[in-house]
Amino acid sequence: MDIHNTTEDTVFKVAQTIFNDIKKEGNPDGFCLCDQCRMDTICYTLNRLEPCYIVSNRGITRIEQDGIQRQQEEADIATLVYKGLRLVNHFQRPTAPHNAFAAPEAGPAKPAFDIPTIIGRLFDGVTFSPLSGATVSLRRDGELVAMRNFNWQNPYTLISNTPGTYTFWPAPVSAEIADIHKTFEYSLKIECPDYDPLVHSFKIPAVSKIQTVSSYSLDRTFKLPDLYLFPPGEAEQNG
Ligand SMILES: [Zn+2]
Repeated sequence: MDIHNTTEDTVFKVAQTIFNDIKKEGNPDGFCLCDQCRMDTICYTLNRLEPCYIVSNRGITRIEQDGIQRQQEEADIATLVYKGLRLVNHFQRPTAPHNAFAAPEAGPAKPAFDIPTIIGRLFDGVTFSPLSGATVSLRRDGELVAMRNFNWQNPYTLISNTPGTYTFWPAPVSAEIADIHKTFEYSLKIECPDYDPLVHSFKIPAVSKIQTVSSYSLDRTFKLPDLYLFPPGEAEQNG
């Protein structure tokens, strides 16, 4: 069974349209539109909307029928995206160079596994409020995973303008040839003052392909289940 949050699709679509429109208009407000600021803006927006879960195919028909309601929803989301973009730009991450684009490596195109962006949320297991100040590290085979570019940090420390949310964008992993199917196993370690640390393991399937400029996209995301941290002594099983 495939469960899907359609709010994410709408937010990604609306946000990408807005980012593209801003660029087309010559970016009069001078927003930073680097990958990290884009993802921070998307996270800000997602954190302020109700998720809408569906079981794969059935929901898509339903969504297409609600045309007028959807227009209103998209207008509300656009307002949130603009608000998020302003806030994210105002409190820019000091450690990121905010390069406008993650330029693909120069030279001949090589086959590689394109790993999607990874998004997850962290909550206090007792109060259910989003956590801030937690540090999340992403490892594969015991090593910290290299990120796509310097805009992305690993370990990542949760920041206050997108409470509870962390994002990663691993660098592509080179492959011998295209069309190899491979499963990448990751482990996430979450450390937060006053909470028991938590380790969460997960797998991402990927297919190697020749990297091109057009394969560069923030549209693909891998959403992790919400994780809950508990103060020492109150440890329970995370679902
Ligand atoms: Zn930026």
